[in-house]
Amino acid sequence: MKVYNIEPVKKLGQNFLHDYNIVEKIVLSADIDKDDCVVEVGPGLGVMTSYLAERAHKVVAVEIDRKLIPVLERLKDDHDNIEIVNEDVLKIDINKDIIEKYCSDKKVKVVANLPYYITTPIIMKFLEENVSNLESMTFLVQKEVAERICAKPGGKEYGMLTVAVNYFACPRILFKVSPSVFIPKPNVDSSVIRLDVRKERPFHLKDQDYFFKVLKAAFAQRRKTLANSLANAPYLHVTREDVYKALEEMGKSISIRGEVLSGEEFGTLSNILYDKKIIQ
Ligand code: SAM
Repeated sequence: MKVYNIEPVKKLGQNFLHDYNIVEKIVLSADIDKDDCVVEVGPGLGVMTSYLAERAHKVVAVEIDRKLIPVLERLKDDHDNIEIVNEDVLKIDINKDIIEKYCSDKKVKVVANLPYYITTPIIMKFLEENVSNLESMTFLVQKEVAERICAKPGGKEYGMLTVAVNYFACPRILFKVSPSVFIPKPNVDSSVIRLDVRKERPFHLKDQDYFFKVLKAAFAQRRKTLANSLANAPYLHVTREDVYKALEEMGKSISIRGEVLSGEEFGTLSNILYDKKIIQ
């Protein structure tokens, strides 16, 4: 940072890793081999990038901060398998701009110490865009986010993120990471999480967008009953009676809250409501 006169930018979530043991542990957890094309989101100063490049066929590092690009370009002196893409990862088309250009015919693994301010949108983008050949994603995230992703129905951590991620992938928390391994130190604990992308979806959905809308409505007002939450969401186009009937059809009480339903039960509910909705 001194050599390049770089100050971490808080609004870009720049907490750089300076503990090489942790970097190595993350890279080993991602299980990279020479057949893999690794997409690294937010390489920062490139501490993890060179470790990844030693093991992978190719590393495509997507970094938004223009000031970090000269630092990252220097990595190419030692590694001829690194591509630097100076873009906002949320604005690119992952398949078109990354996979087709750099990773065709290779297994794809995503590895990142994620910027905490956009953790969820980044994770959901990779899952929802159906990235070709995507096998796994290994992320360093805020501990609470990791717990939300791996939560079980019924608890307060269980929510839309849990159900959505589990629809696409099998997540597991691997290990905790203390704030002391970052510069600057964040105010929160972190965890490394690995998401193994499912080869097939775990249950059938009549309409994936409608399923996500049902989840959004169900978890938007957690203190309300599920029937009230769904009936109050105009974009679902269903009445309270429709929801009552759907829940009865599923053998559930009409007074349940959303947080007790499993992902598959949300799938069944959204399929029933999709057929009942007023606007087809
Ligand atoms: N990988 C580095 C490390 O472990 O030291 C840096 C991790 S730091 C937590 C997050 C990185 O993501 C920063 O380099 C930041 O500039 C970058 N970043 C933030 N928002 C981004 C975005 N929308 N697209 C791409 N990179 C982004």
